[in-house]
Amino acid sequence: MQIKDKVVILTGGANGIGAALARRLVSEGARVIIGDIDRKAGQELITELNQNNKVNAIFIFCDVTNFDHLSQLFDTAQNTFGGVDIVFNNAGIGQENEFYDQTNRWIKIIDVNLNAVIKGTQLGIQYLKKRGGGVIINTASMSAFYPVSYSPIYSTTKRAVVGFTQSLRDLKDTDKIRVNAVAPSYFESNLTQELLKSKEYGQAAKNFGFVPIDDVIAAFIRIIQDDKLAGDTIAVTTRYKSKIISKS
Ligand code: NAD
Repeated sequence: MQIKDKVVILTGGANGIGAALARRLVSEGARVIIGDIDRKAGQELITELNQNNKVNAIFIFCDVTNFDHLSQLFDTAQNTFGGVDIVFNNAGIGQENEFYDQTNRWIKIIDVNLNAVIKGTQLGIQYLKKRGGGVIINTASMSAFYPVSYSPIYSTTKRAVVGFTQSLRDLKDTDKIRVNAVAPSYFESNLTQELLKSKEYGQAAKNFGFVPIDDVIAAFIRIIQDDKLAGDTIAVTTRYKSKIISKS
């Protein structure tokens, strides 16, 4: 699949890897609907992306745990650009040291990192079918494969995303919809800045090292372009730039 002229839904696109991806997609001629709870960063990003009076990107305030908000991203893509071709379920939150303090933040982590991915995929399938096919890409994490004690729920959600993605491999044959995931190791973002404050996390990040954001973006692009990938998860680590770690 080529990227030019494709209509893309991207959650968690105001910062971090999502923002880098939005820049790359627009530079290749895609139109991107960015859904995020960070209004300020989202507005700044679309000002940057919409130069010369051309609408390349739209920002919509979207809390992915609110399924009406998620639906609105798809409605906007349909009404503004005539449909949806690619869906990135990328919004994610981390760190739950609080888990051991008996708070309920773990429920929020499951809602953002897993339930919203499932709902985004369900909506994605509905809209991509109208287009005769397309691609859905879920952001997992290497913590799906190397779970760590300081983030048991985060690891659980990411492992579930890998399994969920794998379960949908047959959609390639039935509906020309390819669902895949990317599992990056640590890369620099607001999320990691926050986590680095934790001693355990800092040590783990030091052990694994940080991967360049460009390598993570390259894995996302590989999934869009490689028509054979379906139900697969691509790992991005300091050891390998892009490797199929979970083959469907
Ligand atoms: P980030 O914090 O820079 O970006 C995450 C974005 O998601 C932010 O813009 C944030 O506002 C948004 N967001 C958070 N909760 C939301 C909600 N309820 N609704 C909508 N948007 C919401 O972090 P990042 O590192 O770029 O994370 C992006 C994805 O990459 C996440 O799924 C994360 O789990 C995953 N990931 C990150 C790393 C890493 O080392 N940074 C490694 C592996 C996987």
